[in-house]
Amino acid sequence: MSIFCPICKTEFKGEDRVILDEFNTLSHIQCNKEVPFPVKDYGLFEEIEETYEFFSKDEAKDE
Ligand SMILES: [Zn+2]
Repeated sequence: MSIFCPICKTEFKGEDRVILDEFNTLSHIQCNKEVPFPVKDYGLFEEIEETYEFFSKDEAKDE
């Protein structure tokens, strides 16, 4: 599953620096440098993707 930055429309790559906002939306740090909204997390895309498993799952798991 590919995830695209909603601002520049570019697919995220492993070493892109990204931010995760309070709505669980990912975008590039460089695309948001002038937007001081609350940020939930930030770092390399590959790290964020690992930390937040929902990015790599396209279907909810059964409980
Ligand atoms: Zn971007």
